[in-house]
Amino acid sequence: MQPTKLLYLEDFNLLATEAKVLEVTQENGKDIVLLDQTVFYPQGGGQPYDKGVIERPSGKFSVEEVRFVEGVVKHIGKFDSVTFQTGETVKCVVDETRRALNSRINSAGHVVDMAVTALKLNWVPGKGYHFPEGPYVEYAGSLGELDKEKLKTDIENLCNKFIGENRPTKLIFMPKEKMHEVCHHVPEYLLEGKPARVVMYGDFGVPCGGTHVNNLADIRGITIRKIKPEGSNVRVAYDVSK
Ligand SMILES: [Zn+2]
Repeated sequence: MQPTKLLYLEDFNLLATEAKVLEVTQENGKDIVLLDQTVFYPQGGGQPYDKGVIERPSGKFSVEEVRFVEGVVKHIGKFDSVTFQTGETVKCVVDETRRALNSRINSAGHVVDMAVTALKLNWVPGKGYHFPEGPYVEYAGSLGELDKEKLKTDIENLCNKFIGENRPTKLIFMPKEKMHEVCHHVPEYLLEGKPARVVMYGDFGVPCGGTHVNNLADIRGITIRKIKPEGSNVRVAYDVSK
């Protein structure tokens, strides 16, 4: 199967597109639509998948789940009546509200990272969980003698200061070897020699393939819920303003 062209990777503001149906299959009792290109974000990088619809004049397919498997995006869901034919042109429309919230939560995770970096805590960024139910970012490091309550306030204040600076988001494609020039941390699991994407918030770069806000002001506000040790990591749990 040919790899799906990932339109969201180059333009995460694009929430609708036409696409060509490559195949319709079934897995575990669910229908799966494969397209030549998509605006749907498949789950990954700690960000939940998009939902929405794929439609044509005669009927539609509700997209309930989106997964990325070996270069191919699987749109999983159900048809309201008739199925699509191979080669047919359809229109993909992403659920804007769900996407907007996911983008704000993902971006907020990077802003927490900006604050942690600015505070020179020397924690190494690890995984992020950017789901609406209790988002957090984790770092390899320890709290040591740090005053947790003061740290919570310091990180939160810095986050909201960055948001107030209206920093615009910019996307840059570059190989991993170059990323060190603009990112303070480049995770090991990124492939060498393959172009990947860096998201710039002003002069702060993060390797990330997720969707983001156009301007940090769009996050509106960040609250730090909790800071706690998690094994050999420190977990910083946060929330975005409703
Ligand atoms: Zn991101």
